[in-house]
Amino acid sequence: MIAAGALVTSCGQKGVENPLLAEWDTPYGIPPFEKIKIEHFMPAFVEAMAQHKAEIDSIVNNPDAPTFENTIVAYDNAGAMLDKISPVFSNISGTDSNPEVIALEKELSPLRSKHFNEISLNQGLFDRVKVVYAKKDSLGLDAEQMRLLDEMYKGFVRSGADLPDDQKAELKMINEEISALQLQFGQNLLAETGSFKLVIDNESNLAGLSESMKASALKRGEKDSTTSGKWVFGLDNPSIMPFLQQSENRELRKEIFTAYLNRCNNNNEFDNKEVIKKLIDLRLKRAKLLGYENFAQYQLVERMAKTPEAVYDLLNKLWTPSLAAAKRELADMSQIAAAEGFTGTLESSDWRFFFEKAMAKKFDLSDSQLRPYFKLENVRDGIFYVANQLYGITFTQLDNVPMPHAEATVYECKDADGSHLGILYMDMFARPGAKRGGAWCSGFRSQTYKNGERVASLVNIVGNFTRPNGDEPALLSTDETETYFHEFGHALASLLKDVHYYGVGGMTRDFVELPSQIMEHWAFEPQVLKVYAKHYQTGEVIPQELVDKIVNAGKYGQGFATTEYLAASLLDMDYHILKEIPANLDVNAFEAKVLGDRGLVSQIPPRYRSTYFSHTFGGGYTAGYYSYIWAEVLDSDAYQAFVETGDIFNKEVAAKFRKEVLARAGQDEAMTLYVNFRGTQPGIDALLKNRGLK
Ligand SMILES: [Zn+2]
Repeated sequence: MIAAGALVTSCGQKGVENPLLAEWDTPYGIPPFEKIKIEHFMPAFVEAMAQHKAEIDSIVNNPDAPTFENTIVAYDNAGAMLDKISPVFSNISGTDSNPEVIALEKELSPLRSKHFNEISLNQGLFDRVKVVYAKKDSLGLDAEQMRLLDEMYKGFVRSGADLPDDQKAELKMINEEISALQLQFGQNLLAETGSFKLVIDNESNLAGLSESMKASALKRGEKDSTTSGKWVFGLDNPSIMPFLQQSENRELRKEIFTAYLNRCNNNNEFDNKEVIKKLIDLRLKRAKLLGYENFAQYQLVERMAKTPEAVYDLLNKLWTPSLAAAKRELADMSQIAAAEGFTGTLESSDWRFFFEKAMAKKFDLSDSQLRPYFKLENVRDGIFYVANQLYGITFTQLDNVPMPHAEATVYECKDADGSHLGILYMDMFARPGAKRGGAWCSGFRSQTYKNGERVASLVNIVGNFTRPNGDEPALLSTDETETYFHEFGHALASLLKDVHYYGVGGMTRDFVELPSQIMEHWAFEPQVLKVYAKHYQTGEVIPQELVDKIVNAGKYGQGFATTEYLAASLLDMDYHILKEIPANLDVNAFEAKVLGDRGLVSQIPPRYRSTYFSHTFGGGYTAGYYSYIWAEVLDSDAYQAFVETGDIFNKEVAAKFRKEVLARAGQDEAMTLYVNFRGTQPGIDALLKNRGLK
């Protein structure tokens, strides 16, 4: 750290002017967002990487023999400046992108990739880690320190630090190419999602659409003089999904859904098929260099699942009952369609439209009936209520702190005893073309300890929700409501985390969805709905009759939802268990074959088709999309721990969940943490029951 300080000084005036490199004299150490300009990032990254490198060099060149403190802890702490500025940039690139940001991202990506490669393949550094690792049992380490050392050692081996020099060089090149391709995949997707417009200029083609849909489409049209006065729909979820549910115009449904399904599959500059081929090939090469038969094996060995076989075992067990349920849903819809004089076969673009009708017929329930009770602010208050009931924690909205975006809101989270736990940002509305799709939880600082003092998290949840429209506030769909609870669950895991080292602060990909998905269970509990689901105009609490309908209809549609999800999970796995990539691999044909062989019906596309499957090809969830259902085994079983006591807010169970799972994050093997909480390993019964598949 001394070397780092010296570098800041030697950087002279530049360092003083650049707000990214300056001391952040802000409340809670929040990044000074409004002072940061795009042009600050490149010099700041260059400086931060130089600091990081200097810190690593000082570990490697330390004349003292390697110890836990001077090597393991020093490495865990290295790169503080980079950790400070990287999340600020990735938040801009994920939520507020533009051509300037995209260009910078492209310029930065190879530099960062090279930087981290050089560290993970640094022989001198690994040699020191190895020395400490070899005598680990004689160092008197506590369990958390031992875990840090084990994980660090394994991490280096997994990154190739133990390979001979020529293979290291090859691996470096592979890694750099993979990073560049993953970035390109995401940028292509952002471009194609943002550029499509369905323009309607004839009011008769709006049949079926709600007034608020029409109003927001008209507003969207105003953004461009060529579409002013016309109704414009896009491929972002708040636009396309209600359109598919409501539009009575079958041709238009087909037009917009075809565009959706073919994102980055149009043989133009944004096509992702070649990117995919190159990526799976490079990933396989990487796995083989490191001694694995395929990339899935390499990815999974450090996860809770451990092997591809374990993943397929779960996915296959669920596939048959899910597909059967989906076919029952399809039969219901076909019957309704036929009764309405619809001829021919239903297509994928018809599914959501007739599903709405089936819901209305079977349960007398529709999306538009529910939305008025799910005003965004009310849902947020419901989420805070659940968190308070479980853990005694509170959230207070703040003003006068720096904001990452004008549309964001921010809250201070306090523990039951009033002590500060962290800061939570929320940035929930869709901004097509600028914000990438989906919802996620990230942050600007991870929890740790510095000199014995707890450093609290700065957490950020991001969504693509329906925005307010004129006088009408943001009224969420039940899907959006569930997603809100989900992302908040991730945030809670960050806020309640209590670890001493960064290296043990993360949960494995297939465990990290437990804290998020368990929150979804509270979202539609009748006793919770009564607290937050209030009509946005009258303030009337959601009527019991509607609650009953939600409960009754709850599992309907799970056939479709589970099947489309499993189809994507299987696709992700199938690409990554290949032991050879055929030179003439045709992405579309591969996808059609692996799904066709499993009997998937043409009306159900996988939730993500290959060319826009950013979870797997943008990185992050590679051979990992299964994680959601893997974790659902856990969250369904874990929620039963509350239900079994007869109190969904049982404070003892909540305290145990916080202590054994949320606080500990990556301090131990995921299954060990789970069993410490629950007393036993989970089975899949609770999941099957929850999804109505049993
Ligand atoms: Zn999640």
